[in-house]
Amino acid sequence: MSMRDENRDELLAFVDEEEVAPDNTAGHWRILIVDDEPDVHEVTLLALRDVVIEGRHLSFLHAHSALEAREMLSREADIAVILLDVVMETDDAGLKLVRYLREDLDNRATRVILRTGQPGYAPEIETIRLFDINDYKTKSELTRVRLYTTITVAIRSFWQIHQLEANRRGLEMIINATMELSKPNGLRRFAEGVVTQLCALLGVGEDGLVCAASVSRGVAPYVLAAAGQYSAWIGQSLSAIPDERVKRILEDALGKHQHTFGESTCLYFSTPDSHALAAFVDVDSPLNEVDSQLLEVFCSNIAIGFENVQLYQKVYDLAFEDLLVHLPNRNSFIGLVECRPESADRVALVDIDGFSDINSILDQAFGDLVLEAVAARLRNAFPPSVVVARVGNDVFGLLGIAREVSPERIAQVFAQPFAVDGQELRLSATSGLIALGGIQDKAVEVLKNTGVALKHAKSFQRGKSMFYEPVYAVEARDRMRMLNSLRQAFSAEHLFLQYQPFINLASGRIVGAEALLRWKTEEGNFVPPDRFIPLAEQSGLMVALGNWVMRSALQFLAQLRAEGVRDFRMAVNVSHTQFREPDFIDDLMTAMAIYDIDPSCVEIELTESVAIDNVELIEQKLAALRQVGVAVAIDDFGTGYSSLNILRRLDIERLKIDRAFVSGEQCAAEDYGIARMVLQLASQLGLRTIAEGIETEEQRQMLAALGCDEGQGYLFARPLSADAFVAFLHDH
Ligand code: C2E
Ligand code: MG
Ligand code: MG
Repeated sequence: MSMRDENRDELLAFVDEEEVAPDNTAGHWRILIVDDEPDVHEVTLLALRDVVIEGRHLSFLHAHSALEAREMLSREADIAVILLDVVMETDDAGLKLVRYLREDLDNRATRVILRTGQPGYAPEIETIRLFDINDYKTKSELTRVRLYTTITVAIRSFWQIHQLEANRRGLEMIINATMELSKPNGLRRFAEGVVTQLCALLGVGEDGLVCAASVSRGVAPYVLAAAGQYSAWIGQSLSAIPDERVKRILEDALGKHQHTFGESTCLYFSTPDSHALAAFVDVDSPLNEVDSQLLEVFCSNIAIGFENVQLYQKVYDLAFEDLLVHLPNRNSFIGLVECRPESADRVALVDIDGFSDINSILDQAFGDLVLEAVAARLRNAFPPSVVVARVGNDVFGLLGIAREVSPERIAQVFAQPFAVDGQELRLSATSGLIALGGIQDKAVEVLKNTGVALKHAKSFQRGKSMFYEPVYAVEARDRMRMLNSLRQAFSAEHLFLQYQPFINLASGRIVGAEALLRWKTEEGNFVPPDRFIPLAEQSGLMVALGNWVMRSALQFLAQLRAEGVRDFRMAVNVSHTQFREPDFIDDLMTAMAIYDIDPSCVEIELTESVAIDNVELIEQKLAALRQVGVAVAIDDFGTGYSSLNILRRLDIERLKIDRAFVSGEQCAAEDYGIARMVLQLASQLGLRTIAEGIETEEQRQMLAALGCDEGQGYLFARPLSADAFVAFLHDH
């Protein structure tokens, strides 16, 4: 069995063995005859005429001196065997030539057969070993038969060494290529690398073509990379490339999922997630043995590299794509804003109103469906030139030209109900927009300011859009400062409560009080609760703060009871976030337990907006409160938009008519129209009533006449400190 057969591998089995040594000059074994006697040349030629060794003919080079041979060796490559005379210009001219061959030319493959006329000139054994000399013969020994066997052995070992050498060089190239291709350069760079490396490995000019096909995602095969004459095809779909032969070869490899060899080389690579690449290289002569073997090693290395590239792509996608809605994510959006085209002069952030409720009350899976529906609607509502990204939980980012990224268009997106999980769902969104000054605006800054606009809109224009104004940033900074000092004030116990009495309008008796939070800054200024409470709400401080208010108010109530005050209720304002807190009722019960308070003496004031924001949640909580025995009043009633329907559903005790409908010229002018309506409504629904902000005797009389149960206002008392309130109680 020949060496080639032994080394043949299955993968490349169809490389035709006969073609390994084709019948052309390139496929000859080259023999160099070096001898200063012309006769020896003649005789040798005669002896080796028509000889075929390992399927190849011999071709001869002739040198008549060591010098000429030296010259020839440095010029000619792939000489298989040198038949070398020892004694020429000098006694050891032949040996010197061998040294030159091995040491100076670093040629390890070419076999050397020494010949000499005189047996006495045989070289030392050491020399034979050192210069890797195959054989030493006297010229008389070189008959046709002997010469044939000697040359055959020499050629075989030349070929072995040659193969090993080529293998070593090829493997070196493959290692380098693999290292080069393992760099996470993206699929396209990878494909380009494969072409380059393949051309280098096969020793052809850069005229390759690599075509990638993404089978799993249903993308038609296209030309991913190419070099040389094929460069023009990059990006074209495979079916559109003009060269029928190349097209057929590539389609064949992709279709059969295997390498194809023959008229040209086409390699096939795939990954477990069924991405595939086919690499076509135009090699005019069929591959030889070494090349075929190297290619196999190359292929298995490339397959790994290809997988790495795909993995890297996945990681990249994970880092830059939102996996739920398949839109660019925040990172990606920042990048896109940073490198935006000059024409893109607007960024918007769109926040779905009440999304956290959807998520917590319905479940998260439903929340996901909502996000998907909104993402799809947004993507379809804007042309492809507008970037649509998901930049936060329920916040979407838009980047584009002003005409397209407009409040009107955003509003249109939410105008129609969404179909989510077979249900019709009405959604609204609040958005912040920014007009970009120019491409010099940094993305992070742009997003920050758009975020400021969004926050502003959420506080003042829920459900609408607002544009960024520089003053917002200043305000935002001020709020930040204020929040910090509020935190400090809270921990330094600079906050305190005042109490404002409730009066029964018919009897004039004091029936209770509302606890009102006060903040006096270090400088001695009072900050109105209307300003700092929304701040505490936004920052999450409100829960702790509200809890503290509750305990302090109940402690004061316990103190009043100890002083003999009976039939007295304490009303405590409870904010949005505090009420939503899952622990709210537990905290309330703990506070009542600590001060041994009868729940019927406690009332909670919820603003109308809290009550209508999420009826289902409120309904549950109110029912739970009722169980505990604590009553609820709807504060600032008349300012919101609660429907009769909602009021009917909610288990509440009392309506607090907002002071806007009690004091002020307006309400007198319209003859207390709204107060009248609220009172009628309350009586129909069987609810109790209290009027806020009674400042004059006339207002008191009017409301009493309209049937309002109770009143609160400067006419009776301003909010009072605990001590002042105790004194007030004693006086009345
Ligand atoms: P509110 O619950 O409607 O409180 C009544 C507000 O009306 C109080 O303002 C009170 O001082 C004011 N007021 C009472 N009588 C009159 C009057 O005759 N004329 C006029 N013009 N105003 C009167 P204040 O104390 O500035 O509180 C403002 C809002 O801050 C409160 O409105 C309440 O919503 C909120 N708030 C106060 N304390 C707390 C608290 O501890 N927790 C929560 N969540 N909110 C609180
Ligand atoms: Mg109140
Ligand atoms: Mg009020």
